[in-house]
Amino acid sequence: MLSDQKKNDLSCQAIDSTGITHFQQTLDRHGITLLRDKTTTLQINIGLRCNQTCRHCHLDASPGRGEMMTRETMNQVIELARYGHFETVDITGGAPELHADLGDLIKSVSPCASKTILRSNLTALSRELNHLMDILKE
Ligand code: SF4
Repeated sequence: MLSDQKKNDLSCQAIDSTGITHFQQTLDRHGITLLRDKTTTLQINIGLRCNQTCRHCHLDASPGRGEMMTRETMNQVIELARYGHFETVDITGGAPELHADLGDLIKSVSPCASKTILRSNLTALSRELNHLMDILKE
Protein backbone atom coordinates (compact mmCIF):
# COMPACT_ATOMS: atom_id res chain seq x y z
CA MET A 1 0.00 0.00 0.00
CA LEU A 2 1.28 3.45 -0.89
CA SER A 3 1.87 6.07 1.78
CA ASP A 4 0.00 9.37 1.54
CA GLN A 5 3.28 11.14 0.67
CA LYS A 6 3.96 8.66 -2.16
CA LYS A 7 0.41 9.08 -3.48
CA ASN A 8 0.86 12.85 -3.36
CA ASP A 9 4.19 12.60 -5.20
CA LEU A 10 2.64 10.41 -7.90
CA SER A 11 -0.28 12.79 -8.20
CA CYS A 12 2.11 15.75 -8.62
CA GLN A 13 4.07 13.85 -11.26
CA ALA A 14 0.87 13.09 -13.16
CA ILE A 15 -0.12 16.76 -13.06
CA ASP A 16 3.38 17.83 -14.14
CA SER A 17 3.15 15.57 -17.18
CA THR A 18 0.00 17.38 -18.35
CA GLY A 19 1.52 20.84 -18.18
CA ILE A 20 -1.39 22.01 -16.02
CA THR A 21 -0.46 24.59 -13.38
CA HIS A 22 -0.51 23.28 -9.83
CA PHE A 23 -3.44 24.51 -7.74
CA GLN A 24 -1.08 25.96 -5.12
CA GLN A 25 0.85 27.88 -7.78
CA THR A 26 -2.40 29.36 -9.06
CA LEU A 27 -3.34 30.41 -5.52
CA ASP A 28 0.10 31.96 -5.05
CA ARG A 29 -0.15 33.86 -8.33
CA HIS A 30 -3.45 35.40 -7.22
CA GLY A 31 -2.25 36.04 -3.67
CA ILE A 32 -4.89 33.75 -2.20
CA THR A 33 -4.35 31.83 1.02
CA LEU A 34 -6.83 29.11 1.91
CA LEU A 35 -7.60 28.81 5.59
CA ARG A 36 -9.67 26.11 7.20
CA ASP A 37 -12.89 27.47 8.66
CA LYS A 38 -15.73 25.93 10.65
CA THR A 39 -17.40 22.99 8.93
CA THR A 40 -21.04 23.96 8.49
CA THR A 41 -22.33 21.25 6.17
CA LEU A 42 -22.33 17.50 6.64
CA GLN A 43 -22.74 15.94 3.22
CA ILE A 44 -23.68 12.26 3.35
CA ASN A 45 -23.30 10.12 0.25
CA ILE A 46 -25.32 7.01 1.03
CA GLY A 47 -24.57 5.01 -2.09
CA LEU A 48 -23.61 4.91 -5.72
CA ARG A 49 -26.66 3.06 -7.01
CA CYS A 50 -28.84 5.18 -9.25
CA ASN A 51 -31.76 4.49 -11.55
CA GLN A 52 -30.06 6.65 -14.20
CA THR A 53 -26.80 6.25 -16.10
CA CYS A 54 -25.88 9.82 -16.95
CA ARG A 55 -22.73 10.18 -19.03
CA HIS A 56 -21.76 13.30 -17.10
CA CYS A 57 -22.04 11.65 -13.67
CA HIS A 58 -18.85 12.38 -11.74
CA LEU A 59 -19.48 9.33 -9.54
CA ASP A 60 -20.25 6.96 -12.38
CA ALA A 61 -23.44 6.04 -10.52
CA SER A 62 -25.79 3.58 -12.21
CA PRO A 63 -28.24 0.73 -11.53
CA GLY A 64 -25.28 -1.67 -11.61
CA ARG A 65 -23.38 -0.05 -8.74
CA GLY A 66 -23.63 -1.99 -5.52
CA GLU A 67 -21.80 0.32 -3.13
CA MET A 68 -24.38 1.39 -0.55
CA MET A 69 -23.73 2.74 2.95
CA THR A 70 -24.05 0.02 5.56
CA ARG A 71 -26.37 0.48 8.52
CA GLU A 72 -23.34 0.43 10.84
CA THR A 73 -21.71 3.32 8.97
CA MET A 74 -25.03 5.15 8.83
CA ASN A 75 -25.33 4.91 12.62
CA GLN A 76 -21.87 6.43 12.96
CA VAL A 77 -22.81 9.27 10.61
CA ILE A 78 -25.99 9.89 12.63
CA GLU A 79 -23.86 10.17 15.78
CA LEU A 80 -21.60 12.66 14.00
CA ALA A 81 -24.64 14.69 12.95
CA ARG A 82 -25.89 14.76 16.55
CA TYR A 83 -22.67 16.11 18.00
CA GLY A 84 -21.17 18.01 15.05
CA HIS A 85 -23.34 21.17 15.30
CA PHE A 86 -23.77 21.42 11.53
CA GLU A 87 -25.99 24.06 9.97
CA THR A 88 -26.87 21.85 7.03
CA VAL A 89 -27.18 18.13 6.43
CA ASP A 90 -26.98 17.30 2.74
CA ILE A 91 -27.97 13.77 1.68
CA THR A 92 -26.88 12.56 -1.73
CA GLY A 93 -25.91 9.51 -3.78
CA GLY A 94 -26.31 8.00 -6.47
CA ALA A 95 -30.02 8.19 -6.00
CA PRO A 96 -30.47 8.26 -2.22
CA GLU A 97 -34.09 7.14 -2.65
CA LEU A 98 -32.78 3.67 -3.58
CA HIS A 99 -31.31 3.14 -0.11
CA ALA A 100 -33.70 1.17 2.09
CA ASP A 101 -32.75 3.18 5.19
CA LEU A 102 -33.17 6.66 3.71
CA GLY A 103 -36.33 7.35 5.69
CA ASP A 104 -34.67 6.44 8.97
CA LEU A 105 -31.66 8.55 8.10
CA ILE A 106 -33.78 11.62 7.35
CA LYS A 107 -35.73 11.21 10.58
CA SER A 108 -32.51 10.85 12.57
CA VAL A 109 -30.43 13.67 11.11
CA SER A 110 -32.97 16.35 10.22
CA PRO A 111 -33.46 17.44 13.89
CA CYS A 112 -29.67 17.91 14.12
CA ALA A 113 -29.44 20.86 11.70
CA SER A 114 -31.57 23.82 10.71
CA LYS A 115 -31.54 22.76 7.06
CA THR A 116 -31.74 19.32 5.47
CA ILE A 117 -31.13 18.85 1.76
CA LEU A 118 -32.18 15.68 -0.07
CA ARG A 119 -30.60 15.61 -3.51
CA SER A 120 -32.87 13.85 -5.96
CA ASN A 121 -33.04 13.32 -9.70
CA LEU A 122 -36.84 13.19 -9.17
CA THR A 123 -37.24 10.09 -11.32
CA ALA A 124 -36.13 7.91 -8.42
CA LEU A 125 -38.20 9.86 -5.90
CA SER A 126 -41.38 8.98 -7.76
CA ARG A 127 -40.91 5.31 -6.93
CA GLU A 128 -41.06 6.01 -3.23
CA LEU A 129 -43.19 9.14 -3.34
CA ASN A 130 -45.81 8.42 -0.70
CA HIS A 131 -43.47 6.90 1.87
CA LEU A 132 -40.81 9.59 1.57
CA MET A 133 -43.16 12.52 1.15
CA ASP A 134 -44.72 11.76 4.52
CA ILE A 135 -41.28 11.74 6.12
CA LEU A 136 -40.14 14.90 4.30
CA LYS A 137 -43.30 16.76 5.35
CA GLU A 138 -42.38 16.23 9.00
S1 SF4 B 1 -29.00 11.06 -11.82
FE1 SF4 B 1 -27.25 12.01 -10.76
S2 SF4 B 1 -26.35 10.37 -9.52
FE2 SF4 B 1 -27.68 9.39 -11.05
S3 SF4 B 1 -26.32 8.88 -12.77
FE3 SF4 B 1 -27.23 10.91 -13.19
S4 SF4 B 1 -25.77 12.41 -12.38
FE4 SF4 B 1 -25.25 10.41 -11.48
